[in-house]
Amino acid sequence: MAILLLLALIMTSSSWAPGLVLDICGLSVDWVPYESWGVLGDGEPWDLRLGLTGFRDHLISTGRTRALEEFDELRRITLGLAESASKIPAMAMRSDSNPVPLFLRHLPELFGLLSQPDQGMGPFGPYMNGPIFEVTDPWLRSWLDALAFSLSGVEAADTPASAMAYVLFDMHREGGTLDYPRGGMGSIVDELVRGIGGVELRKKVDEIVLEEGGERVEGVMVGGQLVRAKEGVICNAPIWELPGLLEGQTKTEELSDFLEVAKATPFTRSYLHLHVVLNSTGLDMSSLRPHYTVFDKGLVGDSEHVVGDSNMIAVSNPCVLDPDLSEDGTIMMHAYCCGNEDYDIWEGWQGGGDRVGYEALKRERAECLWRSIEKVVGEDARSRVVAEYIGSPLTHRRFLTRHKGTYGATPSGLLKNGDTPVEGLVLCGDSVFPGIGVPSVALTGAAAANGLVTWWKQLQSY
Ligand SMILES: Cc1cc2nc3c(=O)[nH]c(=O)nc-3n(C[C@H](O)[C@H](O)[C@H](O)COP(=O)(O)OP(=O)(O)OC[C@H]3O[C@@H](n4cnc5c(N)ncnc54)[C@H](O)[C@@H]3O)c2cc1C
Repeated sequence: MAILLLLALIMTSSSWAPGLVLDICGLSVDWVPYESWGVLGDGEPWDLRLGLTGFRDHLISTGRTRALEEFDELRRITLGLAESASKIPAMAMRSDSNPVPLFLRHLPELFGLLSQPDQGMGPFGPYMNGPIFEVTDPWLRSWLDALAFSLSGVEAADTPASAMAYVLFDMHREGGTLDYPRGGMGSIVDELVRGIGGVELRKKVDEIVLEEGGERVEGVMVGGQLVRAKEGVICNAPIWELPGLLEGQTKTEELSDFLEVAKATPFTRSYLHLHVVLNSTGLDMSSLRPHYTVFDKGLVGDSEHVVGDSNMIAVSNPCVLDPDLSEDGTIMMHAYCCGNEDYDIWEGWQGGGDRVGYEALKRERAECLWRSIEKVVGEDARSRVVAEYIGSPLTHRRFLTRHKGTYGATPSGLLKNGDTPVEGLVLCGDSVFPGIGVPSVALTGAAAANGLVTWWKQLQSY
């Protein structure tokens, strides 16, 4: 068990996993680094600057002495946890949690980790509300909730302590930056497709096929054809899809139990999206940031307020870094409520019917997103519209194949690793610890791939 938790901690900390996976496959993406993002709706607009001093300077200039003291102390007590874990590369992970590669190549780092207090393996609650530490400053509590929410879809106290420790370490270390892949997120996918070759896009797997008795995977059914697996099947479909994918198969008792748990995995709320193309004539692009966090109803308050309905909104403004994304004279922006929109409000509108009513609801709910874009661009934002698309949780569910439009599983519902009761069937993606986010899912993908080869071959790969 200790080893399993240890692996979990390392996986949380390996935020550089996507780059590592690309490096190992001999692939590359043009990363554009940037050092700050804008925060709006928390008093005067401010920039969250990464690196050693940026955030501290903000706390000093706004007179938040208590927040500063508590922030420094939090970083101090979580530093060992984050630092020692970050020394072990993601490629040492295996979905079956076999610790041999770790023992053979990373023993000193392992000892470093084992010397950390084991409380770091659980949720961050004890670092927020005692007994390890108590954050008493209301502003800092709200900020930590907001930070955690974008990471895990839940507030800070319920987010894994190891994940929070790593974020506190990584964002505020010397040289800390953010990375934007030129061309957008699709460029990572394009590069992977180019490098791997033989990738079939836009094809639905109808079934995962098991050998007689249900103990080993045979392959997948796609478009009525069985594609046989040579080594195994790695599945990153969200966990709630798995029971349906195995529906017609003979199952062992162990697998049936596993699928019952999978079906009941708790999940976070949904998304509301606003994509716009705006006429950029006269806009001072140098004054705009690549992205913003906007608090529509303000930052400070209890957790329910910070992560509550439509409060925290992300505005992505990539043309600042990548002007070629949009046609000359225009910019594109994406504003979205990240995991704080209830699916229930929308469920009744499935299957067509009253189109006018549905469109009216979309407009009504997306008002907060328009307000955010106005905060960024100025009050004339709506008069600049060239194109506008509102996406509801139903849109999110449909296009991203996301159960009830969810952001992902809550941390308490994550699978500890990608192992399943079926030999050769391995899971990865955001339903597996450490959960939501591209770095995490790249890491579970690497662990799943390693799980299909011997530890000896794994050690030779990095
Ligand atoms: C708006 C938004 C912004 C985000 N911003 C960030 C960010 O800045 N940084 C960050 O790290 N993370 C971000 N995330 C989170 C991140 O995108 C996800 O956590 C991550 O993509 C999850 O990866 P995954 O492989 O588990 O699932 P997915 O990306 O959902 O991939 C699963 C795939 O499986 C496919 N699928 C499902 N069923 C089948 C089937 N039967 N046959 C074939 N295919 C199937 C789905 O269509 C889907 O393409 C963001 C998410 C959203 C929605």
